[in-house]
Amino acid sequence: MTVEQIVVVCDEPSHARSKIADIETFAWDGSRWKPTRVEQVAGYLFSPSPKNTAQPSHPAMSQGDYDGMEEDVDQLHYKCKLCRLDLDVRKSVLFPVLDRIAEAGVSHTTLKALIRVISKST
Ligand SMILES: [Zn+2]
Repeated sequence: MTVEQIVVVCDEPSHARSKIADIETFAWDGSRWKPTRVEQVAGYLFSPSPKNTAQPSHPAMSQGDYDGMEEDVDQLHYKCKLCRLDLDVRKSVLFPVLDRIAEAGVSHTTLKALIRVISKST
């Protein structure tokens, strides 16, 4: 994947003073997309201390538990605070769309463009 990050913004003309709203940043981790706003929460909960690698601080939290947690947020919801444009989408629908965007060499898109593509692909 040549594009390893896709930034989604909303730049609708109805925004006051042509403001651009940050919606989400998806990062490619080598095998799949990760919504970084969700991952920030997970990182807070699960980040291992680099100075304490010998003893994991949460030995009960295996990678399997981590994956299980992630399944719970399969449904993603985004809403622009400025124009109320919103998108409800499952990762299983959204991620193939991100694949196609990345394959086209695009690393920046808008909420409206995503909505348009997803409505065509479902
Ligand atoms: Zn907007």
